[in-house]
Amino acid sequence: MSAERAAPSEEEAAPEPCLVPGCGAESVRHLALAEARKGLEHLPDTGRRAPLCKDHYKQWKKATKQARKLDRLTW
Ligand SMILES: [Zn+2]
Repeated sequence: MSAERAAPSEEEAAPEPCLVPGCGAESVRHLALAEARKGLEHLPDTGRRAPLCKDHYKQWKKATKQARKLDRLTW
């Protein structure tokens, strides 16, 4: 008997698309929407979480770093 149990990888289940309008890339990070807005504009007002793709997460990080020079928050 072959037990076919392809381990269900919950983490890979349907990644949410990036919240930035016009992007829609696969998200790699989730931020609280309020946080995300500190670094990114044009975010739609949906829900409380903001999935971001790699590029936009980088962009956000850069933007927030400039906003407050006390960087090094433990994210
Ligand atoms: Zn994006």
